[in-house]
This record gives sequence, structure tokens and C-alpha cells, in this order.
Amino acid sequence: MNNQKNLIIITGPSGVGKGTVVKEVLKKNNKFWLSVSATTRDPRQDEKEGENYFFLKKPKFEEMIDKQLFLEWAEFAGNYYGTPKESVNKKIKQGYKVILEIEIEGAKQVRSKMKNVLSIFLLPPNKKELERRIRERATESESSIIERLKRSHYEIDSSKDFDFHVVNNDLQKTIQDVFDIIKN
Ligand code: 5GP
Repeated sequence: MNNQKNLIIITGPSGVGKGTVVKEVLKKNNKFWLSVSATTRDPRQDEKEGENYFFLKKPKFEEMIDKQLFLEWAEFAGNYYGTPKESVNKKIKQGYKVILEIEIEGAKQVRSKMKNVLSIFLLPPNKKELERRIRERATESESSIIERLKRSHYEIDSSKDFDFHVVNNDLQKTIQDVFDIIKN
């Protein structure tokens, strides 16, 4: 039996640096593939359709839920986010290690549904630093920042359920640690 972990979840609170870490890890191995999620939130200024997300209106997203087209989905800070099932299955069959960069409720769904899952929880050095990073990113409204920070307490409290924990203090070290975990 193949015990290779070919579905990799990277989770952690908003602002911890998941996106940056994943982007760099992907550059290190062309057999890693990042799943593109669907979301109902509006695109940020530099985000591109089909690259960062598939940006959908709520009714379309709900139709996809009804048709069971998501591997997992969750509501986060007032919007839906979900992983399209078909492309993930296809890439796994093609021999890729598929990376999901998702929030914690979706991560729990995937862990309970799928075998061969490896999960990594990225932690901030501390909660003050997390707030500083979200604010420095300057992509969210004040209300969204507050909602994301509020949720981060619950997320960090639930982090013990995940396979690996990496504190994102020094970015280069975090990238290397996450890469090593996935590779091995
Ligand atoms: P953001 O709005 O900052 O892009 O994402 C908000 C949160 O949703 C982040 O924690 C991000 O990892 C998570 N997220 C992105 N895509 C998905 C997805 O497909 N499913 C779930 N459950 N969470 C997602």
C-alpha cells in the first residue's frame, strides 16, 4: 500500500504568512501543486482570477456546494471559501503532492475525509506580532481585521490537533522547515 502523504494541508491564522511560505515552497519542487480555491470575497488589488482564487458570486458557490463539487468548504470572516474536488483528485492521480492552503474548519473536514493527509499548522511568534502582520499587509478593512484576529485565538487554541507545528519567526527557516516536512 502507498503510505506517501500526497495531500498536504497548510493552515494557521490569517496573517501568519501561509501564502508567502507556500509560494516559496512551491518554487523548490515542481511536483508540488497548489490547489486554487473558490471564494465569494472580492479580489484584492493584485489578485487574478484563476490564479489566486476563482472569485464567485454567492449563488454560484452555493450551487457548487449543492452539487458536492467541493472537497471541503467553510465560511470565514463573512465569505465562503472552498477547495474544488476534481482538480485535487486529478493532480493526486498525476503524482503531484497537492498543497491546500486553507483555514482550520476546512482543514478538519479534509483530515476526517481523506487518507494520506499531512497537516502543518503555522503559528505566529505571538499574538501581538500576528496583529502587526495583518495590519502591515493592509489588505483588510478594520472590521475584517478585528474578525480575523478574534478568530485567530480559536484557531491557535485548536492547533494541537495538527501533525506538525512551525512557528513562523524567521521566514527562510520556516520555508525550509515546511519544505523538509513535505518532502520527507
Ligand atoms: P484570505 O481572504 O485572506 O485570502 O483567506 C482567508 C482564509 O481562508 C485564510 O486562512 C485562507 O487560508 C483560507 N482559505 C483560502 N482558501 C480556502 C479554501 O478553499 N477552504 C478553506 N476552508 N479555507 C480557505
